Amino acid sequence: MGGATARVPAKINLHLGVGPLREDGYHELSTVFCAVSLYDDVTVRAADELAITVTGESSGEVPADPTNLAARGVLAVAEYAGRSETNVAIEIAKQIPVAGGMAGGSADAAGAMLAAARLWRVDLERETLMDLAAGLGSDVPFALLGGAALGTNRGEKLLPVLQRGELYWVMVVAKTGLSTPAVYHELDRLRAGRGETVPAPERPDELMVALASGDVHAVAPLLHNDLQPAALSLQPLLRRTLRAGKEAGALAGIVSGSGPTCAFLCADADAAIAVAAELSGLGVAKAVRTARGPVPGARLIPAHG
Ligand code: ATP
Repeated sequence: MGGATARVPAKINLHLGVGPLREDGYHELSTVFCAVSLYDDVTVRAADELAITVTGESSGEVPADPTNLAARGVLAVAEYAGRSETNVAIEIAKQIPVAGGMAGGSADAAGAMLAAARLWRVDLERETLMDLAAGLGSDVPFALLGGAALGTNRGEKLLPVLQRGELYWVMVVAKTGLSTPAVYHELDRLRAGRGETVPAPERPDELMVALASGDVHAVAPLLHNDLQPAALSLQPLLRRTLRAGKEAGALAGIVSGSGPTCAFLCADADAAIAVAAELSGLGVAKAVRTARGPVPGARLIPAHG
């Protein structure tokens, strides 16, 4: 039966500045996203009823019911197009770690929107698509945009950032995931304990200049994540992982988003392979992957089987 498939990248945050908790329950963010070459493929086909199958990386931890973010993506397109039914089969082939701070669920939502729009021949303007995406989650618009971008507000307001050349990464996937709300909550708790007044997050201009220069050695010391202390507080073993990456030869290591995946920036593609090989041997992780970025955002590819 005919269908449509979208391929969507994971993201890492090269900078993640987190402001105070707002009244609406969100935090003001200033973040630099970079899309990297770990992908989920989302296929949507016509079917008699809604059915979801998930294969690949940690697929058992992903809900195969309407709470799946891909199902919510399909529903958003159906509602926009005035379709009364959403009887589709959604197949998700996962490479992006689940609950890993790499926005895998958001990627699936973005992919499902593109694939459903193609299947039903819904003509969605870019701006409409981005608005629908922002309604599904703060990271969904970036999964559509891809490349490198500055994200503000909840992270859904995006401005493309010039990044010259590619950066090479080693991603170390932890054995157990972290819930994003739990990590933000831990950050609020740590900050309250210190009695800190939290300033609004600043735009990371120095990092953006370094990205435009294409000099990996200028970028490395500027990687920053305000959520890192909270992720380390909830998973203290991540300290060991971060140390091991540096010892293995990475230029810098950082917790990716809310974690617990750790991202290690390497001097070039060969260095990334060497660092990945060394880290694989240590047994500190569920999986070790190399990735490069920036890569394009969600796009349609020839439909899977
Ligand atoms: P982020 O980086 O955006 O904070 P994350 O990468 O840490 O998110 P996800 O993999 O997006 O985390 O998943 C978080 C939770 O969302 C999972 O534990 C799972 O229960 C639920 N979920 C719903 N739909 C999906 C999906 N399609 N893929 C992965 N998780 C999903």
